[in-house]
Amino acid sequence: MIEAAQQRLRAMGFALDVPLVIRLVRYIRIPRQLKLPCSRRGVFARDRETCQYCGCQPGRAHLTMDHVVPRSQGGGTSWENVVTACRDCNHRKGGRTPDEANMELLTKPRQPQYVAFALLGELERHDVWRKYAFS
Ligand SMILES: [Zn+2]
Repeated sequence: MIEAAQQRLRAMGFALDVPLVIRLVRYIRIPRQLKLPCSRRGVFARDRETCQYCGCQPGRAHLTMDHVVPRSQGGGTSWENVVTACRDCNHRKGGRTPDEANMELLTKPRQPQYVAFALLGELERHDVWRKYAFS
């Protein structure tokens, strides 16, 4: 066990630390090729709730999903074509590609690796997980 929760599991006569982070003694293979649904929540989490154009972090309520290649130009909703954008940047970009709008992406969007993604939905529950999930 690397990190434990503050609360402990109590049973008759003894208490156990609740593990938050463990180190595997034997390697366990985790499939990388799983089809992961590209969701709003997932995209925001992958991009660490950061606008991929200007780098601002205005909070989830002020973020939007931007299609890098706009849907009007045949761009699909996939991990590789969707990024987190603040409202201002999304508005400024409009129905254009980053090149057309002369806006640069901070990172090239891609599907998250399975291990990190499996944790994404849970990351808010324990700050301590963030440092492992995105390293
Ligand atoms: Zn922005």
